[in-house]
Amino acid sequence: MYHKLLFMSTPMGAIGSGLGGGVELTLSNIATEMLRRGHKLEIVTPQGSISNSLPIKEIPGELIQIPAQNQSRSDPIVLHKNSVLANMWDYARQVQADYDLIVNFAYDWLPLYLTPFFNCPIAHLISMGSLTDVMDQIIEQIAINFPNTIGVHSQTQAATFTFAKRCICLLNGLDLSIYQFCPKPTQNLAWVGRISPEKGLEDAVAAAEITGIPLKIFGFKQDISYWEKICQEYPNAPIEYVGFLPTVELQKELGKCRSLLVTPRWIEAFGNVAIEALACGVPLIAYRRGGLTEIVQEGKTGFLVEPDSVQGLVEAIKHLDEIDRQTCRQQAETLYSLEAMGDRTEEWFQKILRN
Ligand code: UDP
Repeated sequence: MYHKLLFMSTPMGAIGSGLGGGVELTLSNIATEMLRRGHKLEIVTPQGSISNSLPIKEIPGELIQIPAQNQSRSDPIVLHKNSVLANMWDYARQVQADYDLIVNFAYDWLPLYLTPFFNCPIAHLISMGSLTDVMDQIIEQIAINFPNTIGVHSQTQAATFTFAKRCICLLNGLDLSIYQFCPKPTQNLAWVGRISPEKGLEDAVAAAEITGIPLKIFGFKQDISYWEKICQEYPNAPIEYVGFLPTVELQKELGKCRSLLVTPRWIEAFGNVAIEALACGVPLIAYRRGGLTEIVQEGKTGFLVEPDSVQGLVEAIKHLDEIDRQTCRQQAETLYSLEAMGDRTEEWFQKILRN
C-alpha cells in the first residue's frame, strides 16, 4: 500500500549545510527509499536547502540558534521571532489533510507538543538521547498517548530514556551504491563530524600527535572557538582540515583512510559517520559509548575503546592490520543498506497507521 508522507526536516539548518548533522543524511536517505518504493512525499525544510532531486518545500524564518547538545538539563524551551520551526509546522497544519502521515526528524519540543492538535498522525524519529528534562517529558507523554510513534536509532539511545520500552529501534541506512569499497588505504587516519565539543575531536588529534600518523578531519565547523583551541593545544599534531564535503566526495576521501576515529563525549544516538566508514571498508576505532557500541563488531570491524582514553585509541591503532576491510563493507551491506532501513521504516509507519 502506498502512503502520502510529509517529512519535516530539522530547523537547525538547510539540507546540505551541515548544520543539521546526521539528520540531513538520514532524512534524504529515507526519503529516497520511500520514493523508490512508490510512496508520495514532500520534504518541508528551512530555506536554502539543496534538493538533490528530492521534492522539497522551503520555508523562510529564523533557524534554531541553540543546539540541544549545548543545553543543560533544566533549560527551558526558547523560540525566536519568526522561527522557522514554527513556520514549518504552520505549513504542516495547513496541508495535513493531503497526507496519511507526517514524519518529524527534528529534536525539538514544538512538534511533539503539537501532536495531539493535529488530525494527521505524526511519527517522530528522535535523533538524540536524553539531554534536557523538558524534552524527556514531552517525548514520554507522546510515547504514552500515541503508541509506536517514537522511533530511535539504537537501543543504547533508547536506554537513556525512562520509557525505552516504548521506543521503536530503527538503526539507520545508507545508499550503498554511493559508497565505494576501498581495499588499499593510505596511512592516514580520519575523523568525521560536526566540530563541536560533544564530538571530542581533541582526543583524535592527541592520538595523531602521539603516533605521528596523519589525521584527516572532515566536517562542518559548528564551534569555531573550539576548533581554534584544539589547534593551539596541539600545534605539532599532523592534522589536515579538509572541509565539509558532499557525500560523494566525502566517501572518496574517507575510503582511502586506514581507520575512522569516533571519539564522542556524549551518548551518540547512532553515528552516521561510523556506518559511512564501514560502507567504504574503513575499520572503526570508537569510544564504547552510545550507538557505537552496537555498530562496532569488536575485533572484526573495529575496536571499542575505554571512553575518553587517548591511550586506548593509540593502542587500538596498533592493531588495525588485524581487521579485514571486506568484512567492514559486508557489515554495512547486511545491516545498513537502504533496503534494510526502508523495511524497518515502512514497518514502523504501518504500525502507526494501523493504530
Ligand atoms: N558529513 C558530511 N560531510 C563532511 C562531514 C560530515 O556530509 O565533510 C555528514 C556525515 O555524512 C553525517 C553527518 O555529517 O551524516 C554527521 O552525522 P552524525 O550522525 O555522525 O553526527 P551528528 O552531527 O548528527 O551528531
